Amino acid sequence: MANSWRTERWDSLRLLTPSWQSRLPGLRYEGPDPDGYMTVAEVTAFIERFAALARAPVRTGTTVTSVRRTDDGYRVATTHGELACRAVVIASGACNQPSVPALAAAVPASVEQLTPFDYRDPAKLPDGGVLVVGASATGVQLAAELQRSGRPVTLAVGEHVRMPRMYRGRDVLWWMDESGVWDQRYDEVEDLTRARRLPSPQLVGTPERTTLDLNALTSIGVELTGRWAAVRDGRALFSGGLRNMFSLADLKLRRLLDTFDDWARANGRDDEVAPPERFPPTRAPESARLQLDLGSGEIRAVVWATGFRPDYRWLDVPALDAKGQLRHEGGVVDSPGLYALGLPVLRRRRSTFMCGIEDDARAVIDHLARYLAVGG
Ligand SMILES: Cc1cc2nc3c(=O)[nH]c(=O)nc-3n(C[C@H](O)[C@H](O)[C@H](O)COP(=O)(O)OP(=O)(O)OC[C@H]3O[C@@H](n4cnc5c(N)ncnc54)[C@H](O)[C@@H]3O)c2cc1C
Repeated sequence: MANSWRTERWDSLRLLTPSWQSRLPGLRYEGPDPDGYMTVAEVTAFIERFAALARAPVRTGTTVTSVRRTDDGYRVATTHGELACRAVVIASGACNQPSVPALAAAVPASVEQLTPFDYRDPAKLPDGGVLVVGASATGVQLAAELQRSGRPVTLAVGEHVRMPRMYRGRDVLWWMDESGVWDQRYDEVEDLTRARRLPSPQLVGTPERTTLDLNALTSIGVELTGRWAAVRDGRALFSGGLRNMFSLADLKLRRLLDTFDDWARANGRDDEVAPPERFPPTRAPESARLQLDLGSGEIRAVVWATGFRPDYRWLDVPALDAKGQLRHEGGVVDSPGLYALGLPVLRRRRSTFMCGIEDDARAVIDHLARYLAVGG
């Protein structure tokens, strides 16, 4: 139970969502610090508590090895026997495997490579320089921790979502929640494919409620480069479009803050919060380097913080698209009686966060119940 939280997370990780936002059906955070951010051990305990309350017949330590369609439903093979069922809900998670680009194969063997699943704490890495690839939630958090451990960090920055931890005196995720941004439905989103691929926000949950954007990383000495584009003759080649990337992320942040301000004004909430604020633009390095010799010894390890993807190798139903993603309409999979939960923007923008499951599950299970009722 809570397997991914127990086995696939690094030691210092805390949720980036505030504790009051950890909501599961019938269970709310009731601890002493609702504005704080749960540690991994606290998340595990929270999920265990939910399982006990829900009294669902959970079979722990059981892996599903195949799901196959039959005349009247599905046959599910597991490491502890088979099950026949009329409907199946796939809730196996969106982050089963680290997503590592193909260029990893061209990195010389002298450089150690790690994914966030291998990483526990800085001591896991050799002394010396580290190249962290990817500047979303995982990348910025690991870059900061490694830099503070005394290992000089270079961070390769691709498309990213900049966010301050606090805005107008409130957690930025309070604004996402209250203003309705997270409630936007999948069928109202302009470019759903893009929305589903959007990287996680540059946020960290710390007791000090610190902002961990690229300016914060620059100020502790992290070196920023562009997107890692290729390896040629043992050299990492970085894209030169860093300034454009920063301008785009800054522009999107300003638009998001405008949306919050408009909402507060239109809904008479302005007096409840501090006055509007704007943040300095992301500082670009004087001259970001375009290449790095991977054989020089300057970099001893590469950490791939390039995202995660689901693993459906066990699903023997033709319901995946060319990119290996599940084909579904708001959680109703393209195969009768098959459903999904917990995927990005499944039904709303909040779908992959813990606070997204309640509404999504209600809608999906409603459909499932109707399917069973008509004898599907
Ligand atoms: C690094 C990281 C940080 C995150 N931080 C936050 C955060 O701060 N706040 C937040 O709300 N969300 C956060 N998330 C998203 C978070 O994963 C979800 O909110 C929540 O864990 C999703 O729950 P889930 O049950 O859908 O998926 P998961 O937690 O991934 O659980 C899926 C489960 O299915 C199991 N499984 C997969 N395949 C099989 C199989 N074939 N047979 C049997 N079991 C299988 C897995 O082992 C796992 O136990 C984070 C995710 C990551 C990767």
